Amino acid sequence: MSEVTHFPIRHDWTRAEVEALFELPLPELLFRAACAHRQYFDPRQVQVSTLLSIKTGGCPEDCGYCPQAARYHTGVQASKLMDTDAVLEKARQAKAAGATRFCMGAAWRSPKDRDIPKVAEMIREVKALGLETCATLGMLTASQAQALKEAGLDYYNHNLDTDPEYYGSIIHTREVQDRLDTLAHVRDAGLKTCCGGIVGMGESRRQRAGLLQTLANLPAHPDSVPINRLVQVEGTPLHGTVELDPFEFVRTIAVARILMPASMVRLSAGRDTMSDELQALCFLAGANSIFYGEKLLTTGNPDTERDQALFARLGLQPMPVAEAMDDRISACTTTVHAGITEAA
Ligand code: SF4
Repeated sequence: MSEVTHFPIRHDWTRAEVEALFELPLPELLFRAACAHRQYFDPRQVQVSTLLSIKTGGCPEDCGYCPQAARYHTGVQASKLMDTDAVLEKARQAKAAGATRFCMGAAWRSPKDRDIPKVAEMIREVKALGLETCATLGMLTASQAQALKEAGLDYYNHNLDTDPEYYGSIIHTREVQDRLDTLAHVRDAGLKTCCGGIVGMGESRRQRAGLLQTLANLPAHPDSVPINRLVQVEGTPLHGTVELDPFEFVRTIAVARILMPASMVRLSAGRDTMSDELQALCFLAGANSIFYGEKLLTTGNPDTERDQALFARLGLQPMPVAEAMDDRISACTTTVHAGITEAA
């Protein structure tokens, strides 16, 4: 059964193929995912990012999972955009704790043009500390994406959230196409993309397969693929959703690794409720990136010490800054898959 030893970069996955991966016996699925992981990465290394909410709450959108939506009563206090000095202080702390990438998140439907110079200043200053920069600010126009790129932004996060078929059950204030348009602007500006979704929102396995199929069939695989496990927050419409089987979460990670073998697959929201053993299974399934050390936007995240202890127990180490990895990955991709165009 375990014959697959080669994992090309593909953009033509069918739903049936992805569902068939989900259906594999778990040990077989983990074996294949671990092989795919080793084809492109050193499996001992895990990329470490820190995420800071630079503008919290008060968002006009209605994402059914999100405590920052103004319309839900979740106790999140809305705040204004942080000052650059305060952001820089957090970035210095993140770097001292071992993070190599610093992500700045703002609860906006989309930034106003007048917000861009201030965010651009933050990006320039954080970059000057020697950190990679990432931002998640909502929908972007082409010119806004270009301005952020010129400020030195490395990555832009914009998730698809869920299968396009299920999207309308979760979000009503913008369309899947809006998200795809922003991702196109981000790619066109030369930014690296960070794009994934959330599982455990009541979607079916077929719909989880649909999310991963859509991500893998984008014009370029996202450089980072965050796979979030729903954090149920009282006051949001998704509070009370039936919890996803942890093994199904591991399967989702493994299928993401096989479909997008050269991308960083990131354990994101929901990691604080995962046991060390479940996280270890996720690393075996090909996860190779985490957020740590800072509150994950408005939900909890394991503290730095617990993560460092887990890395020590599992024999894992933080991945060095991305430039070296990017070179290695592109060399590997070029060698193994000559002739296949892949921007990731
Ligand atoms: S997920 Fe983002 S866009 Fe949606 S409500 Fe929350 S902050 Fe707003």
